[in-house]
Amino acid sequence: MARKPNFILAHPAFSRVRTPHFDAMFRVIRRSRCGSINRIFRQYSDSPSAEPLRVCVVGSGPAGCYAAEKMLKRYETARVDVIDRLATPFGLVRSGVAPDHPETKIVLNQFTRVCRHERCSFLGNISLGSSVSLPELQDLYHVVILAYGAESDRALGIQGEDLAGIYSAREFVWWYNGHPDCSDFNPDLKDIEIVVILGQGNVALDAARILLRPTEELSCTDIANHAIVSLRESSVRKVKMAGRRGPAQAACTAKELREVLGINDLRINIKESDLVTTPADEEVLKNDRIRRRVYELLSKAVASKSSGDNSSQRELEFIFFRKPNMFLDSNDRPGHVSAVQFEKTALRDDGSGKQMAIGTGEFEDTECQMVLKSIGYKSISVKGLPFDHRAGVVPNTRGRVLSDASGNSAVPVEGLYVCGWLKRGPTGIIATNLYCAEETVSSISEDIDRGVLARSSQKPGTAGLLELLGSRDVRVVPYSGWEKIDAEEKRLGALQNKPREKLTTWNELLRVAGA
Ligand code: NAP
Repeated sequence: MARKPNFILAHPAFSRVRTPHFDAMFRVIRRSRCGSINRIFRQYSDSPSAEPLRVCVVGSGPAGCYAAEKMLKRYETARVDVIDRLATPFGLVRSGVAPDHPETKIVLNQFTRVCRHERCSFLGNISLGSSVSLPELQDLYHVVILAYGAESDRALGIQGEDLAGIYSAREFVWWYNGHPDCSDFNPDLKDIEIVVILGQGNVALDAARILLRPTEELSCTDIANHAIVSLRESSVRKVKMAGRRGPAQAACTAKELREVLGINDLRINIKESDLVTTPADEEVLKNDRIRRRVYELLSKAVASKSSGDNSSQRELEFIFFRKPNMFLDSNDRPGHVSAVQFEKTALRDDGSGKQMAIGTGEFEDTECQMVLKSIGYKSISVKGLPFDHRAGVVPNTRGRVLSDASGNSAVPVEGLYVCGWLKRGPTGIIATNLYCAEETVSSISEDIDRGVLARSSQKPGTAGLLELLGSRDVRVVPYSGWEKIDAEEKRLGALQNKPREKLTTWNELLRVAGA
């Protein structure tokens, strides 16, 4: 027997969708006696004649592109706008992945297909919070997915942090990758012999490799021209990568470590005594394959240490069990960093099995002329967005943004989702965002199926956004604008045997995009 209509109408999925389509669909349901209400509702949701599901993804990096791709695949009626603060798409793949890692950038082919999809629009040079507010986006779209990553840096909060010569690794990475916000960042490498990098994650390794690798090996990559010019003039001889914990806890991965250890004619300096392990270390090494591989590579590097003393040879030193205590001002160049004062550490179990670095009260100074803080990126909030300032993420359950970070009374905000570093913190490789996007899009699907998304109402989507931005004189860069930038960069690159020569200033980018 067909189910009674009032039973179906009572289902929350149908509470907001009484349209002519609904009534037609409802008659079909009664006639066909078919499957679960949720399945029927999903069919309704995907009906080509239904009101398009208007989706806005904020951020065109890996998390944003994967989320857009999944929404397009799951909903035939989805119209997805991917907006970005920059004039160029692809976020970290363009401005984070190191230029000598072209294989990692192959994912750009997939992301390009997403942005060129007939139901997707890339819209660049739109800054959430200044060009358009979050509540405005929520009014314009059924679904807003925030995937704008982590564009700031964790701070150490120690004395001397604002001295000249101390930079975040992010700024350094953006500079060599031609990010327009760091085109003026000019670390005068001519006058620098020793660089201290704080942190031992993969970003720290990228920075060390770019500083130490022979420039002939970099000049054929898409490294920014200003960076290769500066690196050619560089007098950097030593890079000291400092970690507050030991070799068994180093945050980097084996492939990236092997690469830096394999740099031609590079002396590796690791204190043998640092490799002595405790029972707690042994436990980590036994259970964690990545940590074990990293530890083995470091041990091998100590064993194969060259004994020759070539003073012009470049050197990478790994410093363990040292946490930065303060930065020291230079006597010769007041206002400029001259050393990092480290406090020696010992490891203690924090109660959960994690080994924490505890200061021992013993201090030592390490001379340097430049410091790169590579202790992790940080997401920034925008007005109207619930934000957990301690964790640096948007409070969420499986990608559903929660109304506040305090936990107890938090409820999901209708139509607002989060994905990528903004959702889970600044860790993970590009592929991690694939799973992250899958989770967020599944939550969206569940919400649509359960009818908790008010998608029966018409939303202006792209047209409304463009009208609003037009009234504010925002120079939007459409995908065709990016194609012009892309063509110009490739043309400039070909002149120098590079895959591309990036345009590195806002003016150039907007001019070439014709925005
Ligand atoms: P990360 O892997 O989290 O490493 C951060 C480093 O900073 C760790 O060594 C950490 O030490 C240290 N640190 C944090 N707070 C500190 C403090 N207050 N004082 C001293 N040291 C501190 O971060 P990341 O290197 O920025 O990388 C971000 C993510 O991108 C990672 O998942 C990374 O794997 C990924 N990535 C991957 C690639 C690649 O695959 N080629 C390249 C770049 C980035 P503790 O361990 O003691 O906390």
